[in-house]
Amino acid sequence: MPYLREIIIDGHPTLRKVAKKVQPHELDDPLFQQLIDDMFETMYHAPGIGLAAPQINVSKRLFVVHLQDDDEKHGPFVIVNPKFTLVEGEIESIEGCLSVPGMVGDLSRHEHVVCAGLDRNGKRVELDGAGLFGRCLQHEMDHLNGILYIDTAKNIRPAVTDEEKAALAEVEVAGSAAAPDAAAAPA
Ligand code: ZN
Repeated sequence: MPYLREIIIDGHPTLRKVAKKVQPHELDDPLFQQLIDDMFETMYHAPGIGLAAPQINVSKRLFVVHLQDDDEKHGPFVIVNPKFTLVEGEIESIEGCLSVPGMVGDLSRHEHVVCAGLDRNGKRVELDGAGLFGRCLQHEMDHLNGILYIDTAKNIRPAVTDEEKAALAEVEVAGSAAAPDAAAAPA
């Protein structure tokens, strides 16, 4: 049975650590499988569309993502020891983070990424992400490297508009299908 974990916020030292690689034998540990279940539960409850292990004070290289938009290419996925095998393009958009409550900022990201890693059974997986999903993968990867979006975002501000409030769910969310064009204008 999955349990809610506490999401730690900016200022907690774990958010600034480079997370440790997961060893293959850890995947066989029921506690590790429980961790994955708990991460999904905690992400959905937040609510969010992505959550990295360091955000629940576990400094290991894995994150969960699920855009919850009825497209099975957008999750639910867990990816362990992820690496980008392709990055291309650039796009600016609004971004928020569950670990920086109430705030959003404008941030440039790659427009398209491919992320390879392991699933919960140790099988190799590859996630292809463009638009919001691609941003989400990059945002979560940053968490594994001790980076928060506020480190490079411009115009960091309290979320006021609907679009900004949606971004609080960890990366920009509002009108994800329509927004990329509007947001694509270089700043
Ligand atoms: Zn975040």
